[in-house]
Amino acid sequence: MQRDEKIGMRPSSLNTLFRPVTALSGVGPRIGSLIEKLTGPNVVDLLWHLPSGIIDRRRTPKLMEAPIGEVSSFIVRVESHYPSHNKRQPYKVICSNDTGRLTLVFFRVRKDYISATLPPGSDKIISGKIEKFDGELQISHPDYIGDPEDADNILRVEPIYPMTSGLSVKVFGKSVGNVLNTLPILEEWLDLALFRTESWPSWNSAVKAIHNPQSENDLDTCSPARRRLAYDELLANQLTLALIRQAAQKQAGHPIVGDGRLRKKIMTGLSFSLTDSQNEALTEIESDMASKYRMLRLLQGDVGSGKTIVSIIAMLNAVESGFQAVLMAPTEILARQHYSTLLKLTKGIELRIALLTGREKGKVRQAVLGDLKSARTNIIVGTHALFQEDVIYADLGIVIIDEQHRFGVHQRLALTEKGKGCDMLVMTATPIPRTLMLTAYGDMDITQLREKPAGRKAITTRVVSVDRIARVVDRIQDNINKGNQIFWICPIIEELQSQDLAAAKYRFDYLKKIFREHVGLIHGRMTKNEKDSVMSDFNKGKIKVLVATTIIEVGIDISNATIMIIEQAERFGLSQLHQLRGRVGRSEQPSSCLLMYKKPINGIARKRLEVMRSTNDGFVIAEEDLKLRGSGELLGTRQSGLPVFRVANILDHADLLSTAHKDVDMLLKKDPGLKTKRGLALRNLLYLFEREIAIQNLKSG
Ligand code: ADP
Ligand code: MG
Repeated sequence: MQRDEKIGMRPSSLNTLFRPVTALSGVGPRIGSLIEKLTGPNVVDLLWHLPSGIIDRRRTPKLMEAPIGEVSSFIVRVESHYPSHNKRQPYKVICSNDTGRLTLVFFRVRKDYISATLPPGSDKIISGKIEKFDGELQISHPDYIGDPEDADNILRVEPIYPMTSGLSVKVFGKSVGNVLNTLPILEEWLDLALFRTESWPSWNSAVKAIHNPQSENDLDTCSPARRRLAYDELLANQLTLALIRQAAQKQAGHPIVGDGRLRKKIMTGLSFSLTDSQNEALTEIESDMASKYRMLRLLQGDVGSGKTIVSIIAMLNAVESGFQAVLMAPTEILARQHYSTLLKLTKGIELRIALLTGREKGKVRQAVLGDLKSARTNIIVGTHALFQEDVIYADLGIVIIDEQHRFGVHQRLALTEKGKGCDMLVMTATPIPRTLMLTAYGDMDITQLREKPAGRKAITTRVVSVDRIARVVDRIQDNINKGNQIFWICPIIEELQSQDLAAAKYRFDYLKKIFREHVGLIHGRMTKNEKDSVMSDFNKGKIKVLVATTIIEVGIDISNATIMIIEQAERFGLSQLHQLRGRVGRSEQPSSCLLMYKKPINGIARKRLEVMRSTNDGFVIAEEDLKLRGSGELLGTRQSGLPVFRVANILDHADLLSTAHKDVDMLLKKDPGLKTKRGLALRNLLYLFEREIAIQNLKSG
């Protein structure tokens, strides 16, 4: 139903672009599914699949001088046919012109097809890669065979696209050509001053230009056509975030002003005092909460920077003024950890704290829901289960979402809908480079905890080859004797979890032979009870070495563990390594991290490990990560929740991003409903980049 509504709203000028790819002529179900796999389901998706190279078929050298191994085109006369006598022999067709002779070679080809295509005595244009075989010039399976009248179609610069197996560039290129032929002409949505100073082409010509590169220069991310389209994409991104923010802020919030009595109680029980960073963060949060607008704030702080206590105090602030507070974690383990932290910290304080995860079922769940609805519960901690349809809050004041990097804009919006009008604080340990910050969180205010709690020892990181495992094991023995605890993370083998598991089990068996009952194993396939029991044994110190798959990555706080060993560390990304390393270094004890790699190791992987060895600062690591990934690679992964751009490239187009940000800011001040001529044109832009979600916000706002 929702879908129809969206289609109904889309201006009809864009309809041709939003047909399924099979609507293109020459694209049946088989080719269609390949194209869909490569680019996406709609015709418009073909436009964002950019050429990665060119073939210049305009070259028509003399045959004798044709560069071997390269693509050229030739106008020749067909002379004679030499059909093959068996399947392993090729069918040969001899051609010539006054610059030499050319043999065309075909394997496994139908005789009638060849005779019809290349009748002796006819003149043909042949294009393909020229080779030398037995002293003769030949082209096997020419890319194009055409009549002299087809010269315009063949003798041109042909774009090359990244392909998927089973799909040829020729077929794909033809489909793109079909899309370009029916490309709508759209009202200009760019700010006219910018459009003029940059001397950019219109959208329509820019799209045509990127798919018809005439030279290598045209493939450059800095070519005018690419920059224009990159700007469009970034503008759509910034406009979407700004519209979401605008809509969210229109929903009136509750002014929440606590009296500080609960905060005071909890502070007296703490063994530490807050850092300046934490205090500043709380000042910002409390002032947001006090205002009549909704809070939409991101609290960004490296692992171990102490975000939890900040969130707890914010929740107490809400409770003090009679509201309920929610703390949502991305995993069950983390939810339970937060729950027990809260219980510990609030011991002796008159508060009702509840837990709701997928595991609370039946009567237990009913009781939790009842207490929530009747306002008996003050604070509730849990997972996604907190926002299921039948969970009803009596008076929700603030929602806190931990480890936000697991949730993208869409999930964020869904949650905003659930808690209409309530304040929202999201927390992330993912240090995001400044440039990316805008693309991912342009809709939120941002607070950073840059300072670490006092007394933390820096983590010493070393990089060793897995060949040295025997020595590593010796060192572990020393450490166990000293009472230290160790995380041993096993590699990510594949997308397939089962293979990760196999690696972890293998390592567990190996270590078990040496350290016997001191070794534990935890992985994603265990039941929740099993996981809890392992975690609790590790917590109590019964388990000294905990072998784990990467499920341990997020948020786990075990301050006794001082050693982090990561096997095949070269397979991990920088931000993941940083997250994992952050599981240690949480106490006054010196901690260490051992990054083990398996040879051979490539240059980039080696650099990543070197970055890890040289710094503990998450923000530095994030910037290095961005650089190491290079400008060629699309940024943002499903896991990170960062947006993925199709034309724009954050490294090369960073200047455009800040321009887009300012542009949107000015625009919405003048035209918050996108109702001016430019505003209406911009709606097309949002549709083009499939940001209907922003337009819906506009409608309901
Ligand atoms: P993260 O930001 O990664 O969520 P946590 O909130 O889990 O970090 O905090 C890590 C540890 O630091 C916890 O054990 C917490 O009790 C402790 N901690 C938090 N703030 C301070 C502080 N100001 N001084 C000392 N320790 C602190
Ligand atoms: Mg945390």
